Amino acid sequence: MKVKYLGTGAAEGWPGVFCSCRACREARDRGGKNIRTRSSALINDSLMVDFPPDSYCHIINYGLDLSKLKHLVITHSHQDHFYIDDLKLRKPVFAHLEDDSVLNIYGNKAVAGIMAEILDDNSILKQYLNFHYIPPFETFRTDDMMITPLLASHDRKEDCYIYIFEDKDGKRMLYGNDTGIFPEETWDYIGRFRFDLVSLDCTSGPLQEGTYHMGIPDNIRIKERMLQMGSADKDTKFVITHFSHNGGLLHDQLVEAAKPHDFDVAYDGFELFV
Ligand SMILES: [Zn+2]
Ligand SMILES: [Zn+2]
Ligand SMILES: [Zn+2]
Repeated sequence: MKVKYLGTGAAEGWPGVFCSCRACREARDRGGKNIRTRSSALINDSLMVDFPPDSYCHIINYGLDLSKLKHLVITHSHQDHFYIDDLKLRKPVFAHLEDDSVLNIYGNKAVAGIMAEILDDNSILKQYLNFHYIPPFETFRTDDMMITPLLASHDRKEDCYIYIFEDKDGKRMLYGNDTGIFPEETWDYIGRFRFDLVSLDCTSGPLQEGTYHMGIPDNIRIKERMLQMGSADKDTKFVITHFSHNGGLLHDQLVEAAKPHDFDVAYDGFELFV
């Protein structure tokens, strides 16, 4: 399984859109891996997780052609993960697409409500966007991937999801943005499997949080419990992502803080294979 992190920042990006804090000033000065656009990932070059406002920036930076994208999986409806205004451009005259070019979008009830609103009165857009409501804990299949949404600990106004992705080679990833320590029903489900890759929210950087987001102390708790349960072992890779300037640590400092716990610190453009 190949995973490319297109963006690794929290809702406001890093530097934040309107922010003048020390961490944002330093990120502007240092550039490189300290610049974090809103979070999204591409799996096996064919399936995208989340559609942030920076997707346009991602297609430019990474040379992506999203006219070919067939599957888009959404974690929840917050604007840094589901930027609907750009999806509305997936139709003529904004986009010239093959007649059978359909982007399948998968998400929770909140995402379903937003999609219904824009598709109900737009018959042309309906030809190019096909929405699928996916209930939590029910596995579904795309061309070459088995996907299971699990409940995150995040905004209680909707069922926010983290996901299990299993590809045709049998490689399995747990991918979570925007979650605190998982609810027990999610732990019960995770306990049935062993993972090759675990990708975790680290919005709070070095700080403990655990209810709505996580920081490294929370990531350590997740890793320890997965190792105890047998859902992870010495060969499981752990990646942390979705960082906010409010955590304060720049990329190199995050790498130092994460090193003793064997976490890879994602950055925009980070790729890994498991
Ligand atoms: Zn987010
Ligand atoms: Zn800032
Ligand atoms: Zn969120």
